[in-house]
Amino acid sequence: MEKRIIVASRNRNKVEEIKTILDDTGYSVISLEETGINVNVVEDGATFEANAYKKAFEVMQATGETVLADDSGLVVDALDGKPGVYSARFAGEGASDEDNNRKLLELMQDIPGGERRARFVCAVVVVFPDGTHIQALGECHGQILLEPRGNGGFGYDPLFYVAEHQKTFAELKPEEKNAISHRSKALHKIKCILKGPLKGEKG
Ligand code: IMP
Repeated sequence: MEKRIIVASRNRNKVEEIKTILDDTGYSVISLEETGINVNVVEDGATFEANAYKKAFEVMQATGETVLADDSGLVVDALDGKPGVYSARFAGEGASDEDNNRKLLELMQDIPGGERRARFVCAVVVVFPDGTHIQALGECHGQILLEPRGNGGFGYDPLFYVAEHQKTFAELKPEEKNAISHRSKALHKIKCILKGPLKGEKG
């Protein structure tokens, strides 16, 4: 029987990106939606890794299958790591991307150019039916601009400037962003582990 991995996410773009990256691992990738099983996980962990593990573990328990989950967000040095695990709801429960970006700019209004370092972080965890797990972390470094630039992407993309490209994430083409993003770095690391000798026979 073909080995498969369930992706614990309702975000179709994310599921497609994961399918593409894990293409040659010997696993087929399906979304939680496709399994018809509904699991509601409360993301109350203190770290990206803890949240990703919790999601993957609870969905593994509900399905009995190998599950991949990720958790990501923006970490700003000058704000002691905020918004961090609260990235999606920085300006409050149900906040829009615009609300979150406005709050970020307000909090950073007195922070000078040289101190506006930030990074996107993504933790990816795979939990196997026997309860063991593997994990990987990906990071992408940049700076927070004084005002938004660009129309692409989502979340904090219009404020996140990458020196290497001299553009914000929202000004990059999707394939340019995917080539350097925190999520793709973490997924490529997980892919290496999945294809390696330790976990290759599992699932
Ligand atoms: P999630 O873990 O993918 O649900 O992301 C949590 C939150 O982090 C999102 O709602 C965004 O606010 C932020 N975030 C994560 N990845 C990105 C990204 O690539 N661009 C912009 N914002 C992101």
